[in-house]
Amino acid sequence: MNGTFRPELFDRITAPASGDSLRVIHTDYTDPRPLIWGRRDDGRIFRIPLTDSFDTEWQPDDRHELAVSDPARILGCLLGGAVGDALGAAVEFSDWATIQKQFGPAGIRQMVPAYGRVGAITDDTQMMLFTAEGLIRATVRGEARGICDMASVVHHALLRWLATQHVPASTKVGMDGWLITESELWSRRAPGNTCLSALSQSSRFGEFAVNASKGCGGVMRVAACAFFANPFELGSETARLSHGHPTGYLAAGLFADILKLIWREDLSLHKACVESLARHGDLPGMEETRQLVESVLELHAQGIRPTPSAIERLGGGWIAEEALAIGLWCALSAENLEEGVVLAVNHSGDSDSTGLIAGNLLGLIHGPSAIPGDWLSQLELRQVITQIAADITFVPHCYDPDDSTDAGSAIWLRYPGW
Ligand SMILES: [Mg+2]
Repeated sequence: MNGTFRPELFDRITAPASGDSLRVIHTDYTDPRPLIWGRRDDGRIFRIPLTDSFDTEWQPDDRHELAVSDPARILGCLLGGAVGDALGAAVEFSDWATIQKQFGPAGIRQMVPAYGRVGAITDDTQMMLFTAEGLIRATVRGEARGICDMASVVHHALLRWLATQHVPASTKVGMDGWLITESELWSRRAPGNTCLSALSQSSRFGEFAVNASKGCGGVMRVAACAFFANPFELGSETARLSHGHPTGYLAAGLFADILKLIWREDLSLHKACVESLARHGDLPGMEETRQLVESVLELHAQGIRPTPSAIERLGGGWIAEEALAIGLWCALSAENLEEGVVLAVNHSGDSDSTGLIAGNLLGLIHGPSAIPGDWLSQLELRQVITQIAADITFVPHCYDPDDSTDAGSAIWLRYPGW
């Protein structure tokens, strides 16, 4: 083709003649016959060859608003979480007095070096990415075999993350697919001991952890569960692979369910919390999580804002229900993503995890364009996160086990179904 217009992932393109408008979810410019795939707001997927007429039919569209279940919201959710994690990375182990001494009375508001670079993500984003990879590979397996235990395939993916931490597993781990080849992921970023020990001890895929941990290492990684079927069950079961205390895994299920209610049913964050508690809040083991989520809903209703000392009264966020409640409160109180993420990292506690949870929520609600440009440009692994976010929509809709063309086998090579 002669034209120069080559859309990128998550661009919105419009065809004025037909009135069609698509979100780009996949591009293949390596093939001699380049192609893109786009999703229309009604969910239909289109495969468009970039022939000579493409430039005259399609044009970029920057004005289109975010649709309900727009794939760009998935990108916003994952990137928003990652920038929250990265902003909090430098102050994860600092109390509020130390943060103020280092960054001034308003606390940390810009990315600063952590782990040897500006914009470094931590174990939270690493595990969020491997969980997403496992979910995508599970859908490929389901298509190919007709049946799949999603949590088992996610477990396998988390064991690949364990390998990046140079910790041996007790079972054989397949080191295939594309994510594990990303060398920047092979880096230790203060991983949680519970995750390391539970994953290294598990003897088969899908085995729940035998421990009483309710650390936030489950809830911080489950955002992508919101974009697959049964997110409450998926979030709970995949968190339970490392965290055996009911609060540790049920808080994760509740978080995934809240995200889903915003994404699929277009509920406000407040309504999504109320609705999710109505559906799941009476489950045995949910008491601690329900109590703390209800208390931040009440604080928000009274107009009380999350200051560093008010957050400290809730807790440090090191445990699951606290991390979820702090992230929710900061997201509920914020006019925009930047404000919510800044609130969520500036306190004496687990700043990267609470920043990630607030960022997941606000990125989903406001989309990726709400993320400050300098945060985004400094963010580590931005392209990897963008690719995973695109594949969450593309792969489940486009993988066909009977497709023996290059496109079909390319998906299998990137996301083998085990
Ligand atoms: Mg961390």
